[in-house]
Amino acid sequence: MFQQPSPKHHAIVLGGSIAGLMAARVLADHFERVTVIERDHLPEGDENRPCAPQGHHIHTLMLRGQLIMERLFPGLEAELLEAGAPTVEQGQETRVLYKTGWAPVMDTGLTIYAASRALLESRIRRRINQNPQIEIRDGYEVVELLADESRRTVTGVQMRQRGGQQVEYLRADLVVDASGRSSKTPDWLEQLGYARPQETVIQARLGYASRWYAIPEDFRSDWKAIWIQPKAPFFPRGGVLMPAEGSRWVVTLFGTARDYPPTDETAFLGFARSLLSRRIYHAIKNAEPLTPVYGYRRTANRWRHYERMARLPERLLVMGDAFVALNPSYGQGMTAAALAAETLAAILRGRRSLNRLWVHFHRRLARAVGAAWMLSTHADLRWPTTEGGRVGLLTAIMQGYTDRVAALIPNNPALYQVYLETLHGLRPASALFAPSILKAVFQQAFKHQTAQPAPVVTSTQEMVRVGSGR
Ligand SMILES: Cc1cc2nc3c(=O)[nH]c(=O)nc-3n(C[C@H](O)[C@H](O)[C@H](O)COP(=O)(O)OP(=O)(O)OC[C@H]3O[C@@H](n4cnc5c(N)ncnc54)[C@H](O)[C@@H]3O)c2cc1C
Repeated sequence: MFQQPSPKHHAIVLGGSIAGLMAARVLADHFERVTVIERDHLPEGDENRPCAPQGHHIHTLMLRGQLIMERLFPGLEAELLEAGAPTVEQGQETRVLYKTGWAPVMDTGLTIYAASRALLESRIRRRINQNPQIEIRDGYEVVELLADESRRTVTGVQMRQRGGQQVEYLRADLVVDASGRSSKTPDWLEQLGYARPQETVIQARLGYASRWYAIPEDFRSDWKAIWIQPKAPFFPRGGVLMPAEGSRWVVTLFGTARDYPPTDETAFLGFARSLLSRRIYHAIKNAEPLTPVYGYRRTANRWRHYERMARLPERLLVMGDAFVALNPSYGQGMTAAALAAETLAAILRGRRSLNRLWVHFHRRLARAVGAAWMLSTHADLRWPTTEGGRVGLLTAIMQGYTDRVAALIPNNPALYQVYLETLHGLRPASALFAPSILKAVFQQAFKHQTAQPAPVVTSTQEMVRVGSGR
């Protein structure tokens, strides 16, 4: 039977953050008009904004995300570099302390740009503003979904100006929710007579504290960035120092299992000093701070399983953190949002009807972000204090295997190259099971067969004591 093509006049995107802006860019290829509704009042330039607290913290974009963004916004990378974002090569210019030792200093050919979150978002927003098909309505909050009489199809949204009472109605052929962790879609679905999506929440109780510094004028070094990893399940503290535009460093300290880093200035430095290496501490102890210390603790991994739903209204899609939000310390969130934009583009390409779009989109999105979810949750489940989820046989095997891989990193540059490429999403995780890596892992396993079992720890204080060897 001939199917009537659905009208593709107008699409609405909830949320004008990274996921929402990329969604708008993709939708503009298929709809005559796209409206992005953002509750924040958006800044003209590249300042932080209140509803994006991540702007105060380290915000690293993996190479897979970088590539997708460059495809969506050609020339973006050059614009960021022109705005002063430094590049950071991942082997020569980055010092990473894994729990088994320092990563090899080597040429990886993997270079990221270290733009602040505010700069990246502002440059993407500028591109969106240049597109005459897209309008951003900032300072507006979506308060409800509109549906047809049968409640089978979403037909738009109800919104109001922030702080105002007057309600406005906006009709659309497709509504995409990219409103982040605080998405109200589960509530709105209930109001329309649908079930809420099931949720998986894996909560490692990780907290951030971050401060920005001026890079000292006399600073000379062969590195640009430092990562000090924690040592699961013994030592819950870690830290990162990254350069950013404006000759600044952003330093983010983090602690898992409620060992939250302090936001008090002196205690912040003390926490930096307590890490498994004092390199970050030595870099910042005399550097000029440019900001107060900012804290952040909303870091649970949360998957709202829209892909499992038997019933959803037509013309409604959910993506970005509203679909899967990840522990930010693994730096996968924006790349997962970019993968969602890529999935949206693939699913709309060549499709005449919007009917049942939600089934195909959410299932495909679940596959696209599965690897990032595994990476974050398997790592968080290494802590005995992590809430939600459990270490099943597959997770235990994967954890054991990646422990062996990590143990080889300091002395095996070829393996480290593959490891970094999987971390950046350039290769699937299965690349870590290549014959040469399997061989190295098994050789090492036989060598350590007689090693003593690791001590069992159950409290954070004990983790800190055992892990740091103090
Ligand atoms: C502290 C921190 C550090 C992070 N570090 C990294 C990192 O290093 N690397 C990385 O890749 N990712 C990182 N992330 C994750 C990354 O920021 C997100 O994954 C990314 O921004 C995509 O999120 P999003 O656009 O889906 O949601 P968000 O960025 O949360 O944006 C949602 C937007 O929707 C708006 N909104 C919400 N409700 C409404 C409504 N009802 N009406 C209108 N607008 C609404 C909000 O104001 C907001 O602007 C970090 C996150 C945090 C919190």
